[in-house]
Amino acid sequence: MSAGGRLSTLTRTRVTYTGEPFQFAKDSLKQQDNQTPLPVATGAQAQLESQIMALLGNGGRLWAHPTGISAVLMRPGHPPVIKLDGQSAGAPTSMNELALRNLLPCAEVGVQIRGAIGLRVEKVNRSDLHVKLVGTDSRAILRGIPQTNWHRELDGEWERLHTMGFPPLWEEDSLTEHEQQDTQEFPALAKTDRDISWLGSAMLRRISALCSASSAYFVNSWITGAEWITEISTATGADFNHHHLLAALTDPVWGAALRVRRSFCACDPLGKPKGQCLFYLGHKDGRTGTLQLRFLPDPVNDRATKRAALRSVGADAAWIDRVLPITGNEHGPGVAR
Ligand SMILES: [Zn+2]
Repeated sequence: MSAGGRLSTLTRTRVTYTGEPFQFAKDSLKQQDNQTPLPVATGAQAQLESQIMALLGNGGRLWAHPTGISAVLMRPGHPPVIKLDGQSAGAPTSMNELALRNLLPCAEVGVQIRGAIGLRVEKVNRSDLHVKLVGTDSRAILRGIPQTNWHRELDGEWERLHTMGFPPLWEEDSLTEHEQQDTQEFPALAKTDRDISWLGSAMLRRISALCSASSAYFVNSWITGAEWITEISTATGADFNHHHLLAALTDPVWGAALRVRRSFCACDPLGKPKGQCLFYLGHKDGRTGTLQLRFLPDPVNDRATKRAALRSVGADAAWIDRVLPITGNEHGPGVAR
């Protein structure tokens, strides 16, 4: 294959993982000297990305994309750009609002820190919110939809927290006393967060695999100890085959440094789900951190409503048809498609 043909093939694969525009991914592949076609973050950069994945990419609502993140754009020498969806379906909440509420730290004095300890807003540039972990060279950009006005939204969030008596911390120059106290009080938590940051960052950098390699219409993630649990709901009638996502995440070139350690598959020999299928993935070299993937078959009885909700938040029509296919019951007259 010609070098150009090979680059195009690599680019197409990369796009299935990152959601990047084709030309952007192609240019990035050309520029990077990294041995792996999907660059790996380490240290504080991985910690920042892992916090974003844990606090913002945890799903739990219906978005145009399963986690509300449509793409992660990576270019050598630049911070990753995390592209956020707009509104969520069925709730008056936007990804921007969640980003501010879940990620930006504030002190609930005497109780604990809300948000990511040490996270700071570096600057705002139109729809781009530049964030970092204080005292490190980590950087990430949260890109809202084009109409985003981060200045106004930040002011609103600041005001809201002040009214509640929770001092906002995201403009402080150094780690505040509140944050230090919190870290000292729960040292094991802070250590676990650091230890499993390779996993959170690796998942964020492969955020589109949930769209391209699974039929998830809804996901829900949380962390228990060093275990990152992700529930993947697949509607009846959609392709339940969980091996696509497992293969994508453990691919020797494109996958994370993961391998399947244990599994409980409840599928029949034809791959039809008979219950929940569980997979435990650990680091290839034994680093701390487990990814538990739970594949849930979901009848989705209010399918027409959910399809309409996804359409209203701008989800791709072909994706909706794939992940929430219309079943026999919903072909009747008068049912919204
Ligand atoms: Zn199974």
